[in-house]
Amino acid sequence: MRDDFSKPAKEILAKRVSYKCSNPKCKKITIGAHTLIDKTINLGVAAHIHAASIGGPRYCEEMKSEDRKSIQNGIWLCQNCAKLIDTDICRYSPKELLKWKSQAENESLSIINNDFNQHYNSSLFESRIKVNEKLFNEVSEANSLINELINLTGISNKERHNIGYYIGLQVAQFIQDNDFYIQDEIGLQCIGTFVAVSDIFDSKNTTREETLDNFRRNVRASLKLLKSINSDGIIDTTKKTPLMARYNELLEENSKDDFLN
Ligand SMILES: [Zn+2]
Repeated sequence: MRDDFSKPAKEILAKRVSYKCSNPKCKKITIGAHTLIDKTINLGVAAHIHAASIGGPRYCEEMKSEDRKSIQNGIWLCQNCAKLIDTDICRYSPKELLKWKSQAENESLSIINNDFNQHYNSSLFESRIKVNEKLFNEVSEANSLINELINLTGISNKERHNIGYYIGLQVAQFIQDNDFYIQDEIGLQCIGTFVAVSDIFDSKNTTREETLDNFRRNVRASLKLLKSINSDGIIDTTKKTPLMARYNELLEENSKDDFLN
């Protein structure tokens, strides 16, 4: 005698996983449109975790008949996966199948609850935080390289100028590569800090003190801003640095031009 599931039990099993196969490596949708307008095609199976009859896979002698046909003993699978779990009962043990079942049910529930969006947001925040931390390191690193360059002996100022230019370019490249995560104003502040850094080294073998002072002020402002990152990965750009303020002025001037044209 077989302890088959009732029709309502099968339906509940299917609906609790949104009619998707519960095998985490499969996840196939098992229901779809029939060519007849009032019919559906079902390729899903309510499979028994412990077999429905003696000699079947994972049969449990001690189990009562009513438990064998209960929802607790069922798992919704596509036809292929329903066959698969009966080919290797060591691999597809009751414990493993119950794990699939609860994962699939949780997943189905989380889609309804929009947990996906929450998850997406939290990973976006994490990425933003990471990128800003990396940018902080990039700026610190570039700053110490420039300082080393100033004190380096046995090298012409032309070479210093070229090396300084490439150091600045590295920061700009990092910002460009990660511009999805970096706020415009932070990007501008950091690029602006390094854009004219090579000018510190003029053609004579001296450093331009004024350019150097400017650079140091901007490095401090950049690092301070990057340290103000919050738990969403956002930096407070309301406290404008001179570079940011200038950028905003330029933006405004440009938009005025747009209107005149
Ligand atoms: Zn499947």
